[in-house]
Amino acid sequence: MEPLISAGVLMGEPKEVNEISLDSEFEDQIYKCLDQGIKLHAFPNRLEKMYLRHYRKSRIKRFAWLGVIGLIFYNLFLMSDKAMLPDIFIEASITRVFIVTPLILLSIAGLFIKKIARFVDLIAGAIILFASVSIMYFLLISNSPNVNNYHTGLIISVVVANIVLRLRFRYAVFYTLLIFFLFVLTVHNIPLMNQETVNNSILVLFTVACFTLIGNYQIENENRFTYLNSLLRRINAAKLKESNKKLKNIAITDALTGLTNRRHFDISLEKEWKACRRSQKNLSLIFIDIDFFKNYNDNYGHQKGDECLQKVAKQLCMNVKRPRDILARYGGEEFVVLIPETDTTGTMQLAEEIRGAIEELKIPHEFSDGVNLITISLGVATLLPSDEKTFLDLIQLADIALYEAKNQGRNIVYLHPESC
Ligand code: GH3
Ligand code: MG
Ligand code: MG
Repeated sequence: MEPLISAGVLMGEPKEVNEISLDSEFEDQIYKCLDQGIKLHAFPNRLEKMYLRHYRKSRIKRFAWLGVIGLIFYNLFLMSDKAMLPDIFIEASITRVFIVTPLILLSIAGLFIKKIARFVDLIAGAIILFASVSIMYFLLISNSPNVNNYHTGLIISVVVANIVLRLRFRYAVFYTLLIFFLFVLTVHNIPLMNQETVNNSILVLFTVACFTLIGNYQIENENRFTYLNSLLRRINAAKLKESNKKLKNIAITDALTGLTNRRHFDISLEKEWKACRRSQKNLSLIFIDIDFFKNYNDNYGHQKGDECLQKVAKQLCMNVKRPRDILARYGGEEFVVLIPETDTTGTMQLAEEIRGAIEELKIPHEFSDGVNLITISLGVATLLPSDEKTFLDLIQLADIALYEAKNQGRNIVYLHPESC
């Protein structure tokens, strides 16, 4: 399975939408979108969902505070109503303050309700629509000759929707067209408006609609382009992290057995030596060597020899369970177990368990000297790290102990007498 990483978007969103995957299909999809250029306004399904969710929270916030500012400006126009359309000032006041204002406030509140928050563009567009329809209503009911010039409020609405709020393009188109057609219907029903003014106001609104929609489209495209590039950056960073991790793992893993390798052991030994010196705890080491392995190899073949090493390694893995213990292939048919904060008794117990477990594997070895099975010899040493000694002393003691185990007939655990 390909690894997944968090895209760090809205908390609590479904997993599959919140995560970018490192599979090439996902990346291809991003590159395809980038190549398509002009068609950026609608990504493929999953990408689209990610994009919308990524920006939803910030858009809700932006829409909310712009909604409040818009509301203030909207009601400021009461002064204009009084001067320009005095005959309907009371109706205008009631409409602005008691109908449209509460509707807008409700819509703003709705933005923060989780279940309907996904309709953020629909809600923001509705706010614009309420304001625009109220202006058209004033135009329809007023008998003031100033109605000829009072449609400018609609221009503000369209500019706010498309450029300031930046509704998503498809919603911007929908609301702009709706406002435009409602206006066309309205102006044809205003008796006081002469034909030239009707034509001009329609043309002006149409022009504003077109230009603001073009602007809106460009802004959204740039936004989406930026988002795709940020995704690619995140994917590349994650890939780099992944491959660094893999490389690091490869560097410390023995390819044949899957155990950690000598390099890892050397680093761990130095680290644990220091740690145990600080905590004044014992550090134990077990050297393990397969008995008569050359004979095994020579008689059963290298392939069988490898398989045997793998079986032994697997068993060792099962015996060395504590997370801080380090099991490594030291080289050839030799393994080491580094056991921090453990005394001789505990270490000897583990070593004996390991010896018995390997014997119990009952891997036939007719060319060994004793039990005709694969066996191991173990050299054990335990030291209390101090300034007078180094970790090399521990290796030397364990090595000598192993040599002694071999000397004393193999398939045994030998504890170096200088162990504490
Ligand atoms: P002793 O009981 O004294 O340990 O004798 P031994 O034969 O096990 O020791 P020796 O050091 O003479 O031989 C070790 C053999 O391990 C030599 C080599 O053929 C074998 N060996 C080392 N690494 C590998 C490996 O990766 N794969 C295989 N198949 N054999 C290996
Ligand atoms: Mg050896
Ligand atoms: Mg050997």
